[in-house]
Amino acid sequence: MPRDFAAPSTKNPLQSDLRFLKGVGPRRAAECLRVDLRTCEDLLFRFPIRFEDRSLLRRSVEVKAGEVAALSGEVVSVGLRQTRRQGFSLVEMLARDDSGTFQVVWINQPFLKEVFTRGQRVSFYGKTVWRKPGGLRLENPHYEVVGEPNDSEDKGLHTARIVPIYERIGTLTTKQIRQLVYATLQLLPDSVEEVLPFALRQAHGLPSRRQALWEAHFPTAGTSMTLLNSFRTPAQNRLILEELFLFQLGLGLRRRVQSGKTKIHRIAVDDRIRRSARKVLPFSLTTGQRQALKTIVDDLCRPEPMNRLLQGDVGCGKTIVALLAALVTMENALQVAVMAPTELLAEQHYLSLRDLLKNSRFRVVLVTGGSMTVSKRSTMSAVKNGQVNLIVGTHALVQQGIQFRALGLVIIDEQHRFGVLQRAMLRQKGSCPDVLVMTATPIPRTLALASYGDLDVSVIRDMPPGRSPVMTRVARESERDSVYDFVAKELGEGRQAFVVYPLVEESEKLDLKAATAMVETLRRRFDRYKVGLLHGRMKSDDRAETMRLFSSHDLHVLVSTTVIEVGVDIPNASVMVVEHAERFGLAQLHQLRGRVGRGRFQGYCCLLYKEPISEIGNARLKALASTTDGFEIAEEDLKLRGPGEMLGTRQSGVPTFRVADLVRDQGFMETAHNEAVTILGRSGAVDKVLRGLDENWKKRFGLAVVG
Ligand code: ADP
Ligand code: MG
Repeated sequence: MPRDFAAPSTKNPLQSDLRFLKGVGPRRAAECLRVDLRTCEDLLFRFPIRFEDRSLLRRSVEVKAGEVAALSGEVVSVGLRQTRRQGFSLVEMLARDDSGTFQVVWINQPFLKEVFTRGQRVSFYGKTVWRKPGGLRLENPHYEVVGEPNDSEDKGLHTARIVPIYERIGTLTTKQIRQLVYATLQLLPDSVEEVLPFALRQAHGLPSRRQALWEAHFPTAGTSMTLLNSFRTPAQNRLILEELFLFQLGLGLRRRVQSGKTKIHRIAVDDRIRRSARKVLPFSLTTGQRQALKTIVDDLCRPEPMNRLLQGDVGCGKTIVALLAALVTMENALQVAVMAPTELLAEQHYLSLRDLLKNSRFRVVLVTGGSMTVSKRSTMSAVKNGQVNLIVGTHALVQQGIQFRALGLVIIDEQHRFGVLQRAMLRQKGSCPDVLVMTATPIPRTLALASYGDLDVSVIRDMPPGRSPVMTRVARESERDSVYDFVAKELGEGRQAFVVYPLVEESEKLDLKAATAMVETLRRRFDRYKVGLLHGRMKSDDRAETMRLFSSHDLHVLVSTTVIEVGVDIPNASVMVVEHAERFGLAQLHQLRGRVGRGRFQGYCCLLYKEPISEIGNARLKALASTTDGFEIAEEDLKLRGPGEMLGTRQSGVPTFRVADLVRDQGFMETAHNEAVTILGRSGAVDKVLRGLDENWKKRFGLAVVG
């Protein structure tokens, strides 16, 4: 027997390979595999893209001109014709139902001639363009061949009912898929083990698993078409909830295993530490900051490792909270690692942390990427010996072979670029350090539950006193002059300005050229001021120097690529001009905008766009101009872009769901989360769920590790 030859499973017929299904040969099985369908179950979990109500078939004599109707008929004749004057091709069909004949025409789809043959039964759905005494004419309707001449098989599957429409798989048509799904559903055992808690099913009126699968493909007559096509029937709801519930259960279990561990180190807080914290604090904390800090310090003092996400809009002051947590840890003779997504941000953190700690006895170092120089080697050994207390670097710190003497706390900044996997890797690496993740991208609750479900969450909702929201203006390229006038006015008042350029990888060189040219233009335009350039391709020393000059007010205008997107903190900068704003994502623009208005001065943001602008691009800019609330913007972003895109597809850590859609099914995640928490709190309840679950399901949701 060849090695990849899987014998049909006797245990669960749904797990058997698709190629054992009648009507699926090796060739079709290969086509299915190409879209990740291997087992019968995979096929069942690929749901219709929409439903058509063919139970409402009309008799052709009754349909009026202009009506949209579903008809079914037998092909009497079919032909292809070229119109001489307009140069169209017309496929013309004459069809017959039990009330008479009617015409069907498709314009410029000559291949359809080959699709139809005399004697076939075809269902149509479309608009009647005219009706004459001789009959009616349908133009460009949706169609489906529902029966070949002389076959009587499966007639009931494709007509006279609510019919599921599937996306094609290779050469498999929707009709063939329908047949296969039907055959697969027959394989379902009479009673499929129940995994959803009874109370949940009862509260939401959810059908059994078996029934749900049937109904989600072949709904009972009378099911609401609106609900079906918006994926909201009880059957569909059940399948969504089931998937999200198992997902949340998996997260919960992993978290339980995690927090079941105890840290090697112990952290305590006394008056001496409180005094030392007060000493570094340059201002008094906002209520939100104080609450977040208290929760974090409580976590630190517990025997289980902390896994906490600190969420808060740009500028709300997460850094100081993280610093105080770091201070508590260092006062307990432990090291702290701070990781940022980019070198620039790591450098920034390094500078500000070092500054905040300048009157303390703690040593701060920056570990940059790149080659192993002599100084880097000595830094690394200082880390290993424990001569260094706080280590700042990029996320690459995880990948590099850096060793700590006593790592107590890891602070990860700008989490949305940092995946669940890396987080897990980090935990394996150390001796269970406490982990604090910070994100400035407000995340809609659904997404937070999906991607950070294994973390506790603290949110800072208030802003430091004296901030007023950044004022945003959306302007065409042609209004550039008036935008510059405004910049000149701000510079005249002693403020500084950012000019941001998009940098897309494919056209990196071109964009850099554009940014460089822009520097020249701006130098001429603002000849009394100094204009600098900052981009990711610069050597890190040069970059740090440029930042230092801007920060010390020796540069007035900073032209930059999006390297400044996160974390850069220049309180005197009051205005930002974003070039080609249409090319940026919403969250990104929000981040960028957060770079101004961070000090005592009113912040302004001018979004320059180039016409023509796409509808989505336009929606983005409008959304941004209308609110500065990061949470609102995040909700909008989720709608416009979808979850994967929003969090960065590859590293988002958001799993691909087979049924649930995080945009469509907002709110379900919350329910699923709560149910999972309930189950986890009840002894024996989890085992009961797991008993009903197939091995591969357990694997998929990370439920196997625990069993
Ligand atoms: P983010 O949350 O975006 O990381 P930062 O921590 O960089 O924000 O803080 C933004 C700015 O607000 C910094 O200049 C910081 O010094 C200042 N800041 C933070 N907290 C306070 C506070 N409680 N009072 C006054 N200024 C604050
Ligand atoms: Mg920050």
